[in-house]
Amino acid sequence: MDCSSKKNQYYTEEEAAEALIRSHIRFNRPAVSYYLCSECAQFHLTSKGEPHPLLFQPQVVERIKKEQQTQDWSQSYKRR
Ligand SMILES: [Zn+2]
Repeated sequence: MDCSSKKNQYYTEEEAAEALIRSHIRFNRPAVSYYLCSECAQFHLTSKGEPHPLLFQPQVVERIKKEQQTQDWSQSYKRR
């Protein structure tokens, strides 16, 4: 279903959580949380409000750090 928010839609909470984590790996100003949209009944990411508790879980923090390092490495590698 289309949504007037024009945001990416995630069918499941797991998908939304994964997208939230990925946004932290890739972007300097990432989304902070996700929410269930009352219009389309699917999940969207949002950059407003309180950070999602997921982002404070040690294994998630660790994963973001690790994947950022991997990404930095591959970017500097490409530049050569
Ligand atoms: Zn929506």
